[in-house]
Amino acid sequence: MPINIEEIRNQFPVLHQEVNGKPLVYFDNAATTQKPKQVLEALQQYYEMDNSNIHRGAHTLADRATRYYENTRSAIQKFINAKEEEEIIFTKGTTESINLVASTFGRKFIGKGDEIIISTLEHHSNIVPWQMLCEEKGAILKIIPINDAGEIDLEEFEKLLSAKTKLVSLVHVSNALGTINPVKRVIELAHKFGAKVLLDGAQSTNHLEVDVQELDCDFLAFSAHKLYGPTGLGILYGKREILESMPPYQGGGEMIKEVSFEKTTYNEIPFKFEAGTPNIADVIAFSKAIKFIDDLGKKEIKKHEDDLLEYASDALKDIKGFIPVGTAKEKVSVISFNINGMHPFDVGMMLDANGIAVRTGHHCTQPLMKRLGLEGTVRASFSVYNTKSEIDQMVASIARIAKIKN
Ligand code: PLP
Repeated sequence: MPINIEEIRNQFPVLHQEVNGKPLVYFDNAATTQKPKQVLEALQQYYEMDNSNIHRGAHTLADRATRYYENTRSAIQKFINAKEEEEIIFTKGTTESINLVASTFGRKFIGKGDEIIISTLEHHSNIVPWQMLCEEKGAILKIIPINDAGEIDLEEFEKLLSAKTKLVSLVHVSNALGTINPVKRVIELAHKFGAKVLLDGAQSTNHLEVDVQELDCDFLAFSAHKLYGPTGLGILYGKREILESMPPYQGGGEMIKEVSFEKTTYNEIPFKFEAGTPNIADVIAFSKAIKFIDDLGKKEIKKHEDDLLEYASDALKDIKGFIPVGTAKEKVSVISFNINGMHPFDVGMMLDANGIAVRTGHHCTQPLMKRLGLEGTVRASFSVYNTKSEIDQMVASIARIAKIKN
């Protein structure tokens, strides 16, 4: 069934406000999506009725909170089609999920002279943890180049692979350009050399159907806040046998089986990687965000977002001075651009004056910007609650702004 946009918008209180005297047009969804009221209500419900620490309590509230918390784990398992619930680990965000793999898998399995492959498209959070690991271990970081459209070069990737490759860590969808990477092929090729593959799913899990068993990725990292859920919550999926072979991440309560001063033994997965009191309220509320997506259906969401992308791309291309950045054949509903003769930050400020929220700058992808010869871009990213009439407003504003210098 096609989505009912008015009904959807009614579920997002934040959208119904004016900014600088204009109705808010929120096009900064790649940074973080807005939250439907079911998520907000679940947060309030938890603190009003269920607040309790989980897993250890011998009372009703603790029992209830534990059940709700673990229900979200099971919802996420289904959402990405993981084989088992235990393969889902809660973290603070995509950033922490990647750092977890770098400091546990990396600590144990990557040594001097080993190689890790990433791409030019990566977010800083999929660059810096590997640089830190390589520095510590004497390992080598290799980079898959891209073409001018912002697509990775698969032939060059194949040349980088060797028996020394221990890990390929690749962004599934680029946050800066919207490019969808051919991850299935990358995973097949990497596995031929025995390398493990981590997918940074921060920008793919919200737009695409991501099936970890079908893709056969070894790890998937993503953030709840880009999926209509709360901030401060991330997910790391890992295949059971790999997670079991990795040492713990942090030490503390919950991650242990037994502690003595002589010898401590560790808990089973996923708890081995969840030391301390977790982000209980946000985990519980996140199940409502998953339900929101499931109720609409990923296919319908994607269809709507693709429509918006096509509509906006069509309308913008004729504006004098409009320079699109990233023109990959396969992309999600993200438009990165510059206006000839203008700084992206100034364009962003002028759009904000019209109530239109976009992101400007390097989008935490400085090496990508360097490759493209740019200081930064303006990025408009569309979500399920955006409309063509909002795009009309943005296009009209951009046309007025571009006229200043073109
Ligand atoms: N990777 C990509 C592609 C992203 O877009 C982001 C956030 O913008 C991250 C990683 C980091 O996510 P978080 O800040 O939620 O940890």
